[in-house]
Amino acid sequence: MVPDCLFCKIARGEIPTELLLETENLVAFNDINPEAPTHILVVPKKHIPSLAHVEDGEQGILGEILLALRDLAEKKGLKQGFRVVVNTGTHGGQSVGHLHFHLLGGRSLRWPPG
Ligand code: 5GP
Ligand code: ZN
Repeated sequence: MVPDCLFCKIARGEIPTELLLETENLVAFNDINPEAPTHILVVPKKHIPSLAHVEDGEQGILGEILLALRDLAEKKGLKQGFRVVVNTGTHGGQSVGHLHFHLLGGRSLRWPPG
């Protein structure tokens, strides 16, 4: 845990945030600035700065996050589909330096992104 990291603080409960899911290793909560009717962030409790920083051997948490995304998409009724986004680094548009997966759904999403 990194003291001043926003998502570490949310994972620790230091910033009041309604959790949609909490397990031993991850939390999920609504994005504060939703880009779609459903916009959820799934975040490992461990501070990992980005996807580029994931180490060999951490495939377990990546798998857990993907299964959580699947379950959240089902729970939210995203039968027509959804998108999972992992912005990484400056060119990837990452603004919070703690690994997070966006789950977007509830409307038709355009492609390609900007
Ligand atoms: P990124 O741009 O790094 O891929 O995504 C960061 C996301 O975190 C953005 O979509 C932004 O709206 C969201 N976010 C930033 N601060 C907060 C916050 O305090 N609470 C919540 N729930 N989401 C936040
Ligand atoms: Zn963190």
